[in-house]
Amino acid sequence: MSRSVSILGVTGSVGQSTIQVIEELRGQGRELPVEAVTAASRIDVLVDACRRLRPKFAAIANSQLLSTAREALAGLGVEVGAGPSALNEAGARPADWVMSAIVGAAGLEPTMAAVRRGAHVALANKECLVCAGPLFIEAAKAHGATLLPVDSEHNAIFQVLTHPERVERLTLTASGGPFRTWTIEQMAAATPAQACAHPMWSMGRKISVDSATLMNKGLELIEASYLFGFPSNSIDVIVHPQSTIHSLVHYVDGSVLAQLGTPDMRIPIAYALTWPDRAPVSTARLDLAKLAQLTFEAPDVQRFPALRLARAALDRGAATTTALSAANEIAVEAFLDGRIRFLDISSTVEAALSHLDGAEAGLLAKMPSSFDEVRAVDQAARRAARLIAGNPAAA
Ligand code: NDP
Ligand code: MG
Repeated sequence: MSRSVSILGVTGSVGQSTIQVIEELRGQGRELPVEAVTAASRIDVLVDACRRLRPKFAAIANSQLLSTAREALAGLGVEVGAGPSALNEAGARPADWVMSAIVGAAGLEPTMAAVRRGAHVALANKECLVCAGPLFIEAAKAHGATLLPVDSEHNAIFQVLTHPERVERLTLTASGGPFRTWTIEQMAAATPAQACAHPMWSMGRKISVDSATLMNKGLELIEASYLFGFPSNSIDVIVHPQSTIHSLVHYVDGSVLAQLGTPDMRIPIAYALTWPDRAPVSTARLDLAKLAQLTFEAPDVQRFPALRLARAALDRGAATTTALSAANEIAVEAFLDGRIRFLDISSTVEAALSHLDGAEAGLLAKMPSSFDEVRAVDQAARRAARLIAGNPAAA
């Protein structure tokens, strides 16, 4: 049976790997007709995606690019829309499966459009879950949407979560990022190019920087807690530089189940797109003899304070995780633009959270009860982070 798919963020790293998986499945006679695709502004990549996938609808986030996108896509039989309403339409259109692979909280509303119609949502975008947390999970339950984690650690847990009620703890593995062995002095001088040169995974720039600060693992800790319903003190993080074990589930009888594989996002993407089945995917096969060693070490929260900040935010509650993720988006952007240094990313996030506690006392203490309240916290955290990152004009 063919299942239709929409891809939010088709031009990104996960989006491009999703195209490869769809093409490979098509080659095996498994049709996945594409309903809708979205991009922010990279029209050339969007055109290539539309040529390959032949979607019915393409949305571009930047409304000023509507006529350029229409011209570029002319003749492909694709309806084109632009701006926030078009992104939401892409999520709302009747695809059976929706790949949520926009980066950042910008992915929340289009993903919610898919959740609200009870779709199967392959969730790569972790920020929308960190941002809206419990509300997002409640909405998925209320609308009968199925969340299929694509983030490799969460996909690994999902694959081995045979007895959710018999779990003792979860372990998320982390590669340690490009600065795992760097001194704090070296990290202080790290450039965006160095931060984006991940040793194991090829990814978009924002998540690459998050991997370098370990904020990515912090966001994943929050993601795992909301997604699987476990408290912070039953989820730990271990650095595993070979990125072969993607995460582990410890059961009450002492058994530990893990999912292993080469570090290639096509594996979790294919699993989420074909679930509950599996399909052949031409990823490199795991060669344990060649790997020879799998090593593990405790994360260093002195050099990587983002992990501590994320755990504290999770312990404090949903408004703080919203604020943490929003402030981090601004801090990462400021680092990539050369306005702050690498170590300032975490200190900006920490200062933004303290600023909110002082200037807008009560904002972080209250559990957001609506998406409007989530948006208000998100915006306040962005303003605070912009002030601290030295760009008050944009605040
Ligand atoms: P990329 O930066 O490579 O791609 C981001 C995508 O989102 C692009 O399609 C981009 O469009 C689009 N986009 C960016 N900003 C906006 C916006 N404001 N509104 C609408 N669309 C926007 O990111 P990745 O593919 O690396 O990551 C996507 C998500 O998946 C992230 O949340 C990340 O944490 C998560 N993830 C990624 C993994 C990976 O291996 N890359 C692994 C696990 C999770 P355009 O190209 O036009 O700019
Ligand atoms: Mg991950």
